[in-house]
Amino acid sequence: MRFMLIILALVSCGAWSAPNSVAILQYHHIGDDTPRVTSVTAQELEAHFAWLKENDFVVMSLVEIQQRLASGENLPEYTAAITIDDGWRNVYRNGLAVFKKYQYPFTIFVNPKLMAEAPTQYMSWQQLKELQKYGASIANHSNSHWHMTWRKSSEPTEAWRERVRNDVVEAQQLIDEHLGEQAKHFAYPYGEYDEALQEILEQAGFIAFAQHSGPWSAASPLTAIPRFPASAQYASIETLATKLKSLALPVVDYHPQQPLLAADNNTPEVVVELANTDDFDKNQMNCFASGQVLQPTWQANRFRVSLTEALPIGRSRVNCTVPSKSYNWRFYWYSHPFIRADQQGRWPD
Ligand SMILES: [Zn+2]
Repeated sequence: MRFMLIILALVSCGAWSAPNSVAILQYHHIGDDTPRVTSVTAQELEAHFAWLKENDFVVMSLVEIQQRLASGENLPEYTAAITIDDGWRNVYRNGLAVFKKYQYPFTIFVNPKLMAEAPTQYMSWQQLKELQKYGASIANHSNSHWHMTWRKSSEPTEAWRERVRNDVVEAQQLIDEHLGEQAKHFAYPYGEYDEALQEILEQAGFIAFAQHSGPWSAASPLTAIPRFPASAQYASIETLATKLKSLALPVVDYHPQQPLLAADNNTPEVVVELANTDDFDKNQMNCFASGQVLQPTWQANRFRVSLTEALPIGRSRVNCTVPSKSYNWRFYWYSHPFIRADQQGRWPD
């Protein structure tokens, strides 16, 4: 009996309470006649939503998650959020029935200038308004979906900052004007950011979502919130299930903070400091980057990942995962984004 009580006490106090980790799914197109690499079919989208329901996930709006993480309030053990970038017209055409059926909250990140320039490709304000009735929040993806960190040749930093600020503010004004005041949420076009861009968004009162993977937790920087891509090869429910149940590492510090690599540095080193390592075996951590398998080295609660081969031009990530000891079949997940530019300071879409 006493033994039973001890067991019960351990379970209820929880040597481990579930870390507040939220998987944000990221979609673009919904359809079968759009580029597969950024598409799910309506059937795949419905299968994802059905899986979330069957597996007792609570799907929350980004606003509610932001508030709960800020106040330290606990989140349900399985919490997810849904985001859709670009506002393609096929999202309305092919997604409406699914949104109506499940009534999940979700966020669509739109580019108002592109909506005006190519009205046949993008959803109209009227369509977005209609989706608001079925759980949509509409947020900012910049005015015209550009590589925001790119400076024009010999553009002074202050002129670039002004250009970025105007773009973001103009896009937000158009969104608020047409749909009523929306939360100041921003998704970086292509998931690209550097420290200077993060600072501009923070000063303008935004939180910002990127495209490196991993769950959102109180440890995530509020201008580099990770999301899991859910299109194309990532749409399979088996691989998505692991991501949806992933846990955030208790990160207290990480380096480098600047994702944009200096021209002479193609083999960066990632250093991550954790609050503790109690719920996993350090030796079981695996890291990956552009096809390279990398073994982290540990010093107390800090791990270090050194790249041996040069990262390719463009966007890359270093991803590290390690199984939890106390949550069966759940993994801690950490992702660190990098961008390597070419000689001209550019890279492909
Ligand atoms: Zn986009």
